[in-house]
Order: sequence, then C-alpha cells, then structure tokens
Amino acid sequence: MRTLIVGGGIAGSALAFALRRAGREAVVAEARPSHQDTGGAFLNLAPNGVNALRSLGLGEVPAAAGGFEVSGLDFHNARGRRIAGLAGEHDVARYGARSVVLRRARLHAELARRAQDAGATFLFGARLVGLRTRPGGVEAVFADGRSLTAEAVIGADGVWSTVRRLVWPQAPLPSYTGIVDCGGWTDVDLPDTARQQMYFGRRAFFAYTVDSGVAYWFTNVPRSDEPGRGELDDIDQDRWMEGIRRLHERDPAEVRAILRAARHSVGAWPVYDMPTLTTWHDERVCLIGDAAHAVSPSSGQGASLAVEDAAVLARRLHDEPHPGAAFSGFTEERKARADKIVRFGRRIGDRKVASATGSLFRDLTLGMFLRMGAGATADQYGHRIPAPPVERSREDGS
Ligand SMILES: Cc1cc2nc3c(=O)[nH]c(=O)nc-3n(C[C@H](O)[C@H](O)[C@H](O)COP(=O)(O)OP(=O)(O)OC[C@H]3O[C@@H](n4cnc5c(N)ncnc54)[C@H](O)[C@@H]3O)c2cc1C
Repeated sequence: MRTLIVGGGIAGSALAFALRRAGREAVVAEARPSHQDTGGAFLNLAPNGVNALRSLGLGEVPAAAGGFEVSGLDFHNARGRRIAGLAGEHDVARYGARSVVLRRARLHAELARRAQDAGATFLFGARLVGLRTRPGGVEAVFADGRSLTAEAVIGADGVWSTVRRLVWPQAPLPSYTGIVDCGGWTDVDLPDTARQQMYFGRRAFFAYTVDSGVAYWFTNVPRSDEPGRGELDDIDQDRWMEGIRRLHERDPAEVRAILRAARHSVGAWPVYDMPTLTTWHDERVCLIGDAAHAVSPSSGQGASLAVEDAAVLARRLHDEPHPGAAFSGFTEERKARADKIVRFGRRIGDRKVASATGSLFRDLTLGMFLRMGAGATADQYGHRIPAPPVERSREDGS
C-alpha cells in the first residue's frame, strides 16, 4: 500500500521512516526546494520526544543533528532576580532522557536522510494544491502540475495545512496571538548554562541557553497587527535587531549582552493559536502533527508530539488493513493527550504577558504555579510510545 505524506517536516519524515521500516511504501511531498533554512530556528525536544525517536529506531538523530542536552529551567524577573525554577537533574532517572536543543534545519535534514536511506521517496518542491477521490485511493495534485495517487494521504503539512483546508474547508483557522517569536544563535562570552534561562523582561519575554560559547536565544515580540503571510521572511535584519535591542534595553545584563553579540541571521515567526478540531481524519486522509493540533511554542511540546504521532500512526497503519480504521484508532489514542497539551500551552503563553501589577503577582505566585504544574510536566515528559513494528528483513539494519 502506498502512503503519500504531505509535508517533510518532523512528523512527515519520522512517519516516512517508520512506514518504510514496517515494509510499506512511503512518498513524502515537501513544498520547499530542500531542507535548507537559515532563519535561526531552533527548538527544544522534550524527554518524551527523545524517547519517541528512540522507539522509532531514530535514537541517534539528536546527536547526529548536533543537538545538546539541557535539563531544568530558571525564571527571572526584569531586575534579574531568580523567582522560580524547575529542577531537571532527575530527568534521566524519571523519564529516561533529558531535553535536547537542536537547530531545526539540521533536525529536518537528518530525519529526511534517515527516511530516504530506509527507502522513502522525497519529492522536494512539491506543493500540494488539490486532492481528488479516485477508486481505491486519492489523487494528489501539485502546483507544478505533477500528480500522484495513493491509498492513504497523511497531512503532515503544519499549522496552515493545505490538506486540512482541502478536505475540511469548514475547519476553523489558526488565529494570531499578538506575538512574533524571534531568535537565533550567536557566539557569546558567557558561561555555559546547565538549565534554560527565562526572563520576564520589562516589555517582552526572553530566554536563552549557552552551550560551548554559543547562546541559543529567543524573545516574544508583542505586535498587535497580524503580519502578512511571508511578510517576515525577508525582514531587514539590522532594523529588526535594533528593535529587539530597544525592546530589552532595560533588561538584565546577560540579555543585553546576547542581543549586542547577535550577528547571525535572526528568524521571526508569528505565533498562532489553533482551535481544537472536531475530527482529524476520514476514510483515506488523516492529519498529524501541527496540522491536527498545533500547540503553542510556549509548551515546548509541538515537535515531541509530532514524533509521537508518527510512531503511533505507523503502528496503527501496520495493524489495520483499512486506512480509515487505522486513522480512527490513531485519533482515539492521541486526541485527548494533544488537546490537554494545547490547553497547557495556552495557559503558559498567557502568563508570559503581564502588566506591571500582574508582574508582581506573577513573581509571587510563579513558584506555586510551577509546583502545581509539576504533574502536567511529568505527564508530558513521562509518556512512552511502544516501538512500531519493523519488517523482519530490516530488524538488524535500517
Ligand atoms: C517559533 C517557534 C518555536 C517553536 N519552538 C518549539 C520548541 O522549542 N519545542 C517544540 O517541541 N516545538 C516548538 N515549536 C513547535 C514545533 O515547531 C512544531 O510543533 C513542529 O514543527 C510540528 O512539526 P510538523 O512536522 O507537524 O509541522 P512542520 O514542522 O510545520 O512541517 C510541515 C512541513 O509541511 C510543508 N508543507 C506545508 N504546506 C505544504 C504543501 N501544501 N505541500 C507540501 N508541503 C507542505 C512545510 O514546508 C513543512 O516542511 C515551535 C514553533 C514555533 C513557530
């Protein structure tokens, strides 16, 4: 059975790898010409995401993609005072893994390479524009005129999913949150940080981690009007950095030092809130990853959920002869967890924006909030996905 996966991001490439290992044909159609992305994007893969990669047989990917491990968080107020923290030193004992910070382009490239080595076909520059029902399958049509028919189509095409729009035109659209995430990495003269450092700055939230003299940083820039699609792709880097430095000019010395040093390209990504969908699938088409349940970047769980989705769907497609039944089992297994993390991410995102009086309240209550949230963190980090099946001939190889 041929499965077409639309989107070669984290969910799509991980799924392609898992399907090939289970002996199924997998074709990935990715709109971008390649995995090159110089926009300064990096992400934090949580322990559950690292464990899901291991279940898939992709446990070496974080290290191969140049990732480094971190555990725990320190929160500071705008004066630099530490107001709360999350201990991370027991993550390995509790969850079997620590979080990993990774450059997004390297993670995408590594996952795609592993999927291709396992026999998946990747079509780059293939932007899906149409889906037509055909006897026994679905025909996908791409912007450049190519087309392809498959028994099952997986929409792994992110928060602005074309698959979702084509199959469920009435589905709600993501709404802009008033925040543009910006960040990148830069050489700094600061000591390595064992934990991630978070600052509720005077005008914006800032976070960083230093590893081997390189600071990985991001800031949540408030912007009330929604940027146009693609508007931020070619921003004037100097002007943009000037604005970010001004935003944090009264924040603690470490924040200012990192922004002073920031010379590499800086990415800017508007943050969207994705309403909960009532359905993720029909008989032939299923959504996974951000296309189904985009969680706030504040949750630090989107990439991990994408890998978990891939592992679960690969198992369901192996166990069920009919795609619709596999999709239904997948949704049953995944929806409650994803919905819960979406709600969690929204709450965290809201806490990052605070007025002056709100800041005082937050400084006093954040520790309590984190203690109350410890159960949610354990629930997220401790989740384990059983390994999907591996075709016998591949058990000792890819
Ligand atoms: C600023 C920011 C910071 C984040 N930080 C973190 C973090 O630290 N930790 C974390 O866990 N999560 C983080 N996230 C969330 C995380 O990036 C997503 O949850 C994750 O990338 C979802 O993976 P995905 O494969 O579902 O979708 P995506 O990574 O969005 O991949 C979708 C792919 O589909 C392709 N595509 C789109 N449309 C089409 C089409 N029509 N035809 C063909 N291909 C198409 C795209 O080019 C893309 O390659 C962050 C998100 C943002 C915006």
